[in-house]
Amino acid sequence: MNESVPRSIVVPGYTGRAARVPAGALLTITDLEGCQIGDLFVLAAADPTEVLSPAVTRLVNFTPFPRRGECFYSNRRRALLTLVEDASPGPHDMTFAPCDREIYRDLGAGDDHPNCRDNFHRAIAELGLHPASAPDPINVFQNTPIAADGSYTIGVTRTRPGDWLRLRSECDLVIVLTACAVDIPFAGVQPNGGRSTPLRLDIG
Ligand SMILES: [Zn+2]
Repeated sequence: MNESVPRSIVVPGYTGRAARVPAGALLTITDLEGCQIGDLFVLAAADPTEVLSPAVTRLVNFTPFPRRGECFYSNRRRALLTLVEDASPGPHDMTFAPCDREIYRDLGAGDDHPNCRDNFHRAIAELGLHPASAPDPINVFQNTPIAADGSYTIGVTRTRPGDWLRLRSECDLVIVLTACAVDIPFAGVQPNGGRSTPLRLDIG
């Protein structure tokens, strides 16, 4: 993989792509066709057991939904990324695990449906990394607000074609972005509009 900066990587629907990102780089995630969730997994390049922790980030920022100007923290409470600009309607989720084989099996979609957890492992292996488990992601563009009774409301993703989100890396990172593979109803809703479509990751 070409690791020069700047570069542009298209993540086709139903897949993931990995990249090494130097400190101080800007990462822009663009929803090319609209209505598409992206799962962003983040690991420290120096030690891939240090990973972005949505739980630590919620503890520091006191919200389950990231906002402009806030950092994302690692499991060692170090700032890994900052959300610098948001040209999307949001929101972005920091509470859901990546979709996995078991979810699709439970929903009757068979044993081999593409899923973000497997796509994480497949993509990061391209960089020669083989973590034992996938860290929890930031689910960019995922529209799952919490209702007054504490339950989730599963909403259709609100992004239009070309909407984007920009982050700054605060240290050297390895990232994986997956175009979430959900194409069947969750709680009666098609979050990705019924199919998985491409995202673009620009690093510069
Ligand atoms: Zn997914």
